[in-house]
Amino acid sequence: MIIQDVAVAQEALEKGQLVGLPTETVYGLAANAFDPLAVARIFEAKQRPSFDPLIVHIGHLSQLDELATDLPLGAQLLAKTFWPGPLTLVLPRTQKVPDIVTAGLPTVAIRMPAHPLALKLLQSLPFPLAAPSANPFGYVSPTTAQHVHDQLAEQVACILDGGACSVGVESTIVGFPDGQPTILRLGGVPVEAIEFTLGIPNIPAQLSSSQPHAPGQLVSHYAPKRRIGILAHGSKPAHIASSEWIPFFSDAAYSMQSLSLDGSIESAAARLFSVLRRLDDDPKGPIMWIEAAPDKGLGRAINDRLQRAAHRA
Ligand code: AMP
Ligand code: MG
Repeated sequence: MIIQDVAVAQEALEKGQLVGLPTETVYGLAANAFDPLAVARIFEAKQRPSFDPLIVHIGHLSQLDELATDLPLGAQLLAKTFWPGPLTLVLPRTQKVPDIVTAGLPTVAIRMPAHPLALKLLQSLPFPLAAPSANPFGYVSPTTAQHVHDQLAEQVACILDGGACSVGVESTIVGFPDGQPTILRLGGVPVEAIEFTLGIPNIPAQLSSSQPHAPGQLVSHYAPKRRIGILAHGSKPAHIASSEWIPFFSDAAYSMQSLSLDGSIESAAARLFSVLRRLDDDPKGPIMWIEAAPDKGLGRAINDRLQRAAHRA
């Protein structure tokens, strides 16, 4: 059931049920982060492997103390600069965080989302929300309430409709192994902005791994049903050269879709997952060819998603 009323979502969450949560990145599948049984329902609904830790969403900075300890200075600076917003920090956890949330890791991933409805809901609750993206594990992430409804209607008590996600790719994740910042996932906050804020050029990244504790790091993820072929940025064939920036087209029918409506990288990111879904629904050929984004800023997060979506084992 798609709803507009935050109070209905609040009531469901207080009962330990699952709620589709709008955020500025993608829609989340939310449950009370302090209730292990409620969190277990997330794993079941998504068919998500239990080794895959969840991000805990907060509505107030004061909630940090219940969840994390020993914040590195860099983490404090990033939180102050980018929250609320599409940045997740991986920090040493407190005992209060259930093991099922962190997959038994000694750290917990935390984010304060910027979407006004998400913030309103979080601020109305006496607990934070654990929420991964609201899609079956491994598939394209949802960026509208309808996407959540299409795949998880039976599993959620309700879906709070907050419109189409404005950022459209998941949060950037930064961890601090040995106190040093490390990029764990490319996302809505460009790495360049994080480097500028911390005054550290070339922050190391650990983006790919078969390590179970990082699904956004799996080489195959965000995968549509159709195969994807990636063209290097700027290398589109002559017959589509006149199309707009970043076309999507099928090789059979040459039907095309521009990912960016106005030529901006923000618009391309915001539309990425819904265009992938639409092409899945309306296949014109065996492969969808996609031109890569320029490899900087948000474009790096888009290319990261494309590569994982294109990967076939
Ligand atoms: P999502 O499906 O967008 O909620 O992705 C959550 C992702 O956050 C996980 O797949 C991990 O990549 C990352 N993550 C969450 N908790 C941790 C943690 N404690 N250490 C490292 N990465 C984490
Ligand atoms: Mg996900």
